Amino acid sequence: MVSSIDSLDKALLPIPVVEWQGWGTTSPLPTMVAQIVEDLKVLEEDLDAHMSFGGNGGKLQGNFRVQEDKKHRATYQALGDSEKKLQFYSARQIACRILGSRGYLCQKCWLPMEDCMCSKVTSCSLYPGIRFWLYMHPKDFLRQNNTGKILWQVFGVNAATLCLFGIPEHEEIMWNSFKMAEWCLYPNKSAALKSVENAFGQEPVASDEVAPSEHFILIDGTWSNSAAMFRRLQDKAKSVWGDEDLACISLNPGASAMHKLRPQPSWDRTCTAAAAAGLLSELQLLPQFSTVGLDEQEEAVEHALTVLLDALTNRRLRVGRSITRKMRHTNIQ
Ligand SMILES: [Zn+2]
Repeated sequence: MVSSIDSLDKALLPIPVVEWQGWGTTSPLPTMVAQIVEDLKVLEEDLDAHMSFGGNGGKLQGNFRVQEDKKHRATYQALGDSEKKLQFYSARQIACRILGSRGYLCQKCWLPMEDCMCSKVTSCSLYPGIRFWLYMHPKDFLRQNNTGKILWQVFGVNAATLCLFGIPEHEEIMWNSFKMAEWCLYPNKSAALKSVENAFGQEPVASDEVAPSEHFILIDGTWSNSAAMFRRLQDKAKSVWGDEDLACISLNPGASAMHKLRPQPSWDRTCTAAAAAGLLSELQLLPQFSTVGLDEQEEAVEHALTVLLDALTNRRLRVGRSITRKMRHTNIQ
Protein backbone atom coordinates (compact mmCIF):
# COMPACT_ATOMS: atom_id res chain seq x y z
CA MET A 1 0.00 0.00 0.00
CA VAL A 2 1.41 3.43 -0.91
CA SER A 3 1.21 6.41 1.41
CA SER A 4 -1.16 9.21 0.51
CA ILE A 5 1.75 11.65 0.05
CA ASP A 6 3.28 9.25 -2.42
CA SER A 7 0.10 8.97 -4.46
CA LEU A 8 -0.43 12.75 -4.42
CA ASP A 9 2.97 13.29 -5.97
CA LYS A 10 2.37 10.62 -8.55
CA ALA A 11 -0.99 12.04 -9.49
CA LEU A 12 0.66 15.30 -10.54
CA LEU A 13 2.67 13.68 -13.29
CA PRO A 14 1.42 13.32 -16.87
CA ILE A 15 1.02 9.78 -18.20
CA PRO A 16 4.14 8.59 -20.06
CA VAL A 17 3.47 6.27 -22.98
CA VAL A 18 5.24 3.35 -21.26
CA GLU A 19 2.85 3.67 -18.34
CA TRP A 20 -0.15 3.82 -20.67
CA GLN A 21 0.98 0.77 -22.61
CA GLY A 22 1.81 -1.08 -19.39
CA TRP A 23 -1.93 -1.39 -18.67
CA GLY A 24 -2.33 -3.73 -21.66
CA THR A 25 -2.21 -1.89 -24.98
CA THR A 26 0.24 -1.10 -27.76
CA SER A 27 -1.52 2.08 -28.92
CA PRO A 28 -0.14 5.58 -28.42
CA LEU A 29 -1.54 7.55 -25.46
CA PRO A 30 -4.94 8.85 -26.62
CA THR A 31 -4.85 12.61 -27.22
CA MET A 32 -7.97 13.31 -25.19
CA VAL A 33 -6.78 11.26 -22.20
CA ALA A 34 -3.57 13.32 -22.16
CA GLN A 35 -5.63 16.52 -22.45
CA ILE A 36 -7.83 15.58 -19.49
CA VAL A 37 -4.79 14.84 -17.30
CA GLU A 38 -3.46 18.26 -18.30
CA ASP A 39 -6.81 19.89 -17.41
CA LEU A 40 -6.80 18.17 -14.01
CA LYS A 41 -3.37 19.64 -13.29
CA VAL A 42 -4.58 23.11 -14.27
CA LEU A 43 -7.57 22.67 -11.99
CA GLU A 44 -5.24 21.74 -9.13
CA GLU A 45 -3.35 24.99 -9.64
CA ASP A 46 -6.53 27.04 -9.93
CA LEU A 47 -7.99 25.59 -6.76
CA ASP A 48 -4.65 25.37 -4.99
CA ALA A 49 -5.82 21.91 -3.94
CA HIS A 50 -4.35 18.49 -4.57
CA MET A 51 -6.38 15.82 -6.21
CA SER A 52 -6.55 12.61 -4.29
CA PHE A 53 -8.06 9.27 -5.07
CA GLY A 54 -9.49 6.67 -2.79
CA GLY A 55 -11.82 3.73 -2.45
CA ASN A 56 -12.11 0.79 -4.73
CA GLY A 57 -11.82 2.00 -8.32
CA GLY A 58 -9.73 5.02 -7.30
CA LYS A 59 -12.36 7.74 -7.44
CA LEU A 60 -11.55 11.41 -6.90
CA GLN A 61 -12.11 12.55 -3.33
CA GLY A 62 -13.06 15.61 -1.32
CA ASN A 63 -13.46 19.19 -2.48
CA PHE A 64 -11.40 18.57 -5.59
CA ARG A 65 -13.96 15.98 -6.60
CA VAL A 66 -16.82 18.46 -6.16
CA GLN A 67 -15.07 21.13 -8.24
CA GLU A 68 -13.94 18.70 -10.93
CA ASP A 69 -17.46 17.35 -11.14
CA LYS A 70 -18.88 20.82 -11.88
CA LYS A 71 -16.17 21.49 -14.40
CA HIS A 72 -16.42 18.26 -16.35
CA ARG A 73 -20.22 18.44 -16.44
CA ALA A 74 -20.01 21.93 -17.93
CA THR A 75 -17.46 20.76 -20.52
CA TYR A 76 -19.64 17.79 -21.40
CA GLN A 77 -22.77 19.93 -21.81
CA ALA A 78 -20.95 22.39 -24.05
CA LEU A 79 -19.93 19.66 -26.49
CA GLY A 80 -22.16 19.74 -29.54
CA ASP A 81 -22.51 16.25 -30.90
CA SER A 82 -22.99 12.92 -29.24
CA GLU A 83 -19.76 11.49 -30.71
CA LYS A 84 -17.69 14.21 -29.01
CA LYS A 85 -19.61 13.62 -25.78
CA LEU A 86 -18.88 9.90 -25.86
CA GLN A 87 -15.20 10.48 -26.54
CA PHE A 88 -14.95 12.98 -23.68
CA TYR A 89 -16.81 10.68 -21.30
CA SER A 90 -14.59 7.72 -22.12
CA ALA A 91 -11.33 9.68 -21.97
CA ARG A 92 -12.20 11.19 -18.59
CA GLN A 93 -13.11 7.80 -17.12
CA ILE A 94 -9.84 6.36 -18.34
CA ALA A 95 -7.67 9.30 -17.24
CA CYS A 96 -9.13 9.22 -13.71
CA ARG A 97 -8.85 5.45 -13.47
CA ILE A 98 -5.18 5.52 -14.47
CA LEU A 99 -4.29 8.33 -12.06
CA GLY A 100 -6.23 6.67 -9.25
CA SER A 101 -4.63 3.26 -9.83
CA ARG A 102 -1.02 4.44 -10.03
CA GLY A 103 1.25 2.72 -7.56
CA TYR A 104 -1.74 0.78 -6.23
CA LEU A 105 -2.76 -1.74 -8.89
CA CYS A 106 -0.44 -4.19 -10.64
CA GLN A 107 -0.43 -3.06 -14.27
CA LYS A 108 -0.68 -6.61 -15.61
CA CYS A 109 -3.43 -8.22 -13.52
CA TRP A 110 -5.18 -5.01 -12.33
CA LEU A 111 -5.24 -6.30 -8.74
CA PRO A 112 -3.82 -4.35 -5.78
CA MET A 113 -0.09 -5.09 -5.73
CA GLU A 114 -0.28 -7.13 -2.53
CA ASP A 115 -2.77 -9.43 -4.28
CA CYS A 116 -0.87 -9.67 -7.60
CA MET A 117 -1.66 -13.01 -9.26
CA CYS A 118 0.75 -12.70 -12.19
CA SER A 119 3.19 -15.36 -10.99
CA LYS A 120 0.39 -17.94 -11.09
CA VAL A 121 -0.77 -17.23 -14.65
CA THR A 122 0.68 -19.43 -17.38
CA SER A 123 1.03 -17.79 -20.77
CA CYS A 124 0.20 -19.74 -23.90
CA SER A 125 0.30 -19.07 -27.66
CA LEU A 126 -3.09 -18.65 -29.28
CA TYR A 127 -3.47 -20.40 -32.64
CA PRO A 128 -2.47 -17.67 -35.12
CA GLY A 129 -5.65 -18.17 -37.18
CA ILE A 130 -7.67 -16.69 -34.28
CA ARG A 131 -7.61 -13.18 -32.92
CA PHE A 132 -9.62 -11.73 -30.06
CA TRP A 133 -10.65 -8.10 -29.70
CA LEU A 134 -11.69 -7.07 -26.20
CA TYR A 135 -14.13 -4.25 -26.81
CA MET A 136 -14.15 -2.85 -23.29
CA HIS A 137 -16.33 -0.24 -21.64
CA PRO A 138 -14.28 2.46 -19.82
CA LYS A 139 -16.03 1.56 -16.56
CA ASP A 140 -14.54 -1.91 -16.83
CA PHE A 141 -11.04 -0.62 -17.51
CA LEU A 142 -8.72 -1.38 -14.54
CA ARG A 143 -11.53 -3.09 -12.67
CA GLN A 144 -10.17 -5.82 -10.45
CA ASN A 145 -12.86 -8.34 -11.33
CA ASN A 146 -12.74 -7.68 -15.06
CA THR A 147 -11.97 -10.94 -16.86
CA GLY A 148 -11.15 -9.62 -20.35
CA LYS A 149 -7.66 -8.68 -19.14
CA ILE A 150 -6.98 -12.40 -18.58
CA LEU A 151 -6.99 -13.00 -22.32
CA TRP A 152 -4.02 -10.80 -23.09
CA GLN A 153 -2.29 -11.93 -19.91
CA VAL A 154 -2.45 -15.47 -21.28
CA PHE A 155 -2.18 -14.92 -25.05
CA GLY A 156 -0.37 -11.57 -25.29
CA VAL A 157 -1.61 -8.19 -26.56
CA ASN A 158 -1.26 -9.07 -30.25
CA ALA A 159 -3.49 -12.15 -30.03
CA ALA A 160 -6.01 -10.59 -27.62
CA THR A 161 -6.17 -6.86 -28.21
CA LEU A 162 -7.79 -4.28 -25.97
CA CYS A 163 -10.09 -1.80 -27.70
CA LEU A 164 -11.60 0.83 -25.41
CA PHE A 165 -15.12 2.00 -26.26
CA GLY A 166 -15.15 5.66 -27.29
CA ILE A 167 -11.36 5.98 -27.64
CA PRO A 168 -10.68 6.79 -31.31
CA GLU A 169 -7.03 5.70 -31.14
CA HIS A 170 -8.23 2.23 -30.18
CA GLU A 171 -11.38 1.99 -32.26
CA GLU A 172 -9.60 3.03 -35.46
CA ILE A 173 -7.28 0.04 -35.14
CA MET A 174 -10.21 -2.31 -34.70
CA TRP A 175 -12.36 -0.68 -37.41
CA ASN A 176 -9.45 -1.13 -39.83
CA SER A 177 -9.43 -4.85 -39.14
CA PHE A 178 -13.10 -4.92 -40.27
CA LYS A 179 -11.76 -5.47 -43.78
CA MET A 180 -11.35 -9.03 -42.65
CA ALA A 181 -14.15 -11.21 -41.39
CA GLU A 182 -15.41 -10.20 -37.97
CA TRP A 183 -17.54 -12.19 -35.62
CA CYS A 184 -19.19 -10.69 -32.64
CA LEU A 185 -19.79 -12.81 -29.57
CA TYR A 186 -22.87 -11.25 -28.08
CA PRO A 187 -26.13 -12.85 -27.06
CA ASN A 188 -28.37 -10.22 -28.60
CA LYS A 189 -31.77 -11.53 -29.64
CA SER A 190 -32.40 -8.90 -32.29
CA ALA A 191 -29.21 -9.71 -34.17
CA ALA A 192 -28.81 -12.70 -36.42
CA LEU A 193 -27.24 -15.38 -34.27
CA LYS A 194 -25.34 -18.33 -35.56
CA SER A 195 -23.97 -21.22 -33.60
CA VAL A 196 -20.27 -21.91 -33.88
CA GLU A 197 -21.03 -25.03 -35.89
CA ASN A 198 -23.30 -23.15 -38.32
CA ALA A 199 -20.77 -20.38 -38.74
CA PHE A 200 -17.69 -22.49 -39.29
CA GLY A 201 -18.89 -26.08 -39.77
CA GLN A 202 -19.56 -25.59 -43.52
CA GLU A 203 -16.10 -24.24 -44.28
CA PRO A 204 -13.91 -26.54 -46.29
CA VAL A 205 -10.94 -27.87 -44.39
CA ALA A 206 -7.87 -25.95 -45.44
CA SER A 207 -5.40 -28.34 -46.98
CA ASP A 208 -2.17 -26.78 -48.20
CA GLU A 209 -3.48 -23.24 -48.41
CA VAL A 210 -3.11 -20.77 -45.55
CA ALA A 211 -5.97 -21.09 -43.06
CA PRO A 212 -8.22 -18.02 -42.89
CA SER A 213 -7.85 -15.69 -39.96
CA GLU A 214 -10.92 -15.43 -37.75
CA HIS A 215 -11.44 -12.30 -35.70
CA PHE A 216 -13.73 -12.35 -32.70
CA ILE A 217 -14.99 -9.24 -30.94
CA LEU A 218 -15.82 -9.89 -27.31
CA ILE A 219 -17.97 -7.18 -25.78
CA ASP A 220 -16.55 -6.55 -22.33
CA GLY A 221 -19.02 -4.49 -20.35
CA THR A 222 -21.95 -4.80 -18.00
CA TRP A 223 -25.26 -5.86 -19.47
CA SER A 224 -26.63 -2.32 -19.72
CA ASN A 225 -23.45 -0.86 -21.26
CA SER A 226 -23.11 -3.73 -23.72
CA ALA A 227 -26.21 -2.68 -25.67
CA ALA A 228 -24.70 0.71 -26.55
CA MET A 229 -21.38 -0.90 -27.42
CA PHE A 230 -23.06 -3.40 -29.69
CA ARG A 231 -25.03 -0.63 -31.43
CA ARG A 232 -21.82 1.27 -32.07
CA LEU A 233 -20.22 -1.84 -33.57
CA GLN A 234 -23.23 -2.47 -35.76
CA ASP A 235 -23.36 1.13 -37.00
CA LYS A 236 -19.70 0.92 -37.90
CA ALA A 237 -20.12 -2.44 -39.62
CA LYS A 238 -23.02 -1.02 -41.67
CA SER A 239 -20.92 1.95 -42.75
CA VAL A 240 -18.10 -0.38 -43.83
CA TRP A 241 -20.14 -3.20 -45.39
CA GLY A 242 -23.31 -1.40 -46.42
CA ASP A 243 -26.50 -3.26 -45.55
CA GLU A 244 -24.87 -6.29 -44.08
CA ASP A 245 -25.28 -6.85 -40.35
CA LEU A 246 -22.41 -7.67 -38.08
CA ALA A 247 -22.39 -11.43 -37.81
CA CYS A 248 -23.07 -12.65 -34.30
CA ILE A 249 -22.41 -16.07 -32.95
CA SER A 250 -23.83 -17.72 -29.88
CA LEU A 251 -22.31 -20.38 -27.71
CA ASN A 252 -23.87 -23.62 -26.67
CA PRO A 253 -24.94 -22.76 -23.09
CA GLY A 254 -23.92 -26.18 -21.75
CA ALA A 255 -20.35 -25.67 -22.91
CA SER A 256 -19.66 -22.60 -20.79
CA ALA A 257 -16.44 -22.80 -18.85
CA MET A 258 -18.18 -21.21 -15.89
CA HIS A 259 -20.10 -24.42 -15.26
CA LYS A 260 -16.90 -26.02 -14.12
CA LEU A 261 -16.11 -23.25 -11.66
CA ARG A 262 -17.69 -22.71 -8.30
CA PRO A 263 -20.45 -20.12 -8.22
CA GLN A 264 -19.41 -16.54 -7.60
CA PRO A 265 -22.23 -14.15 -6.76
CA SER A 266 -20.54 -11.06 -8.15
CA TRP A 267 -19.67 -12.83 -11.39
CA ASP A 268 -21.62 -12.46 -14.56
CA ARG A 269 -22.22 -15.98 -15.81
CA THR A 270 -21.35 -14.82 -19.30
CA CYS A 271 -18.05 -13.25 -18.22
CA THR A 272 -15.72 -12.43 -21.06
CA ALA A 273 -12.91 -14.89 -20.38
CA ALA A 274 -15.39 -17.75 -19.90
CA ALA A 275 -17.02 -16.84 -23.22
CA ALA A 276 -13.62 -16.96 -24.94
CA ALA A 277 -12.88 -20.35 -23.36
CA GLY A 278 -16.30 -21.63 -24.44
CA LEU A 279 -15.68 -20.44 -27.98
CA LEU A 280 -12.30 -22.20 -28.14
CA SER A 281 -13.84 -25.40 -26.84
CA GLU A 282 -16.59 -25.33 -29.50
CA LEU A 283 -14.16 -24.50 -32.30
CA GLN A 284 -12.01 -27.42 -31.19
CA LEU A 285 -14.82 -29.78 -32.27
CA LEU A 286 -14.64 -28.61 -35.91
CA PRO A 287 -12.31 -30.40 -38.33
CA GLN A 288 -10.38 -27.29 -39.42
CA PHE A 289 -9.56 -26.41 -35.81
CA SER A 290 -9.19 -29.88 -34.34
CA THR A 291 -5.40 -30.17 -34.57
CA VAL A 292 -4.19 -26.73 -33.50
CA GLY A 293 -4.21 -27.24 -29.73
CA LEU A 294 -7.30 -25.16 -28.91
CA ASP A 295 -8.01 -27.49 -25.98
CA GLU A 296 -4.76 -26.47 -24.30
CA GLN A 297 -5.46 -22.82 -25.06
CA GLU A 298 -8.92 -23.12 -23.56
CA GLU A 299 -7.39 -24.80 -20.53
CA ALA A 300 -4.93 -21.90 -20.08
CA VAL A 301 -7.82 -19.38 -20.00
CA GLU A 302 -9.80 -21.47 -17.54
CA HIS A 303 -6.78 -21.84 -15.31
CA ALA A 304 -6.16 -18.07 -15.28
CA LEU A 305 -9.84 -17.50 -14.53
CA THR A 306 -9.60 -19.83 -11.54
CA VAL A 307 -6.48 -17.96 -10.38
CA LEU A 308 -8.37 -14.65 -10.61
CA LEU A 309 -11.36 -16.03 -8.70
CA ASP A 310 -9.06 -17.29 -5.95
CA ALA A 311 -7.19 -13.99 -5.75
CA LEU A 312 -10.44 -12.02 -5.46
CA THR A 313 -11.85 -14.43 -2.89
CA ASN A 314 -8.68 -14.31 -0.78
CA ARG A 315 -8.68 -10.54 -0.92
CA ARG A 316 -12.29 -10.40 0.16
CA LEU A 317 -11.63 -12.71 3.08
CA ARG A 318 -8.59 -10.73 4.13
CA VAL A 319 -9.85 -7.19 3.62
CA GLY A 320 -13.36 -7.88 4.85
CA ARG A 321 -16.84 -6.73 4.25
CA SER A 322 -16.27 -3.13 3.29
CA ILE A 323 -14.53 -4.18 0.09
CA THR A 324 -17.25 -6.69 -0.67
CA ARG A 325 -19.86 -3.97 -0.46
CA LYS A 326 -17.87 -1.69 -2.71
CA MET A 327 -17.34 -4.43 -5.24
CA ARG A 328 -21.03 -5.20 -5.31
CA HIS A 329 -21.74 -1.55 -5.75
CA THR A 330 -19.39 -1.16 -8.70
CA ASN A 331 -20.91 -4.24 -10.28
CA ILE A 332 -24.28 -2.66 -10.76
CA GLN A 333 -23.04 0.63 -12.15
ZN1 LIG B 1 -0.07 -8.74 -11.25
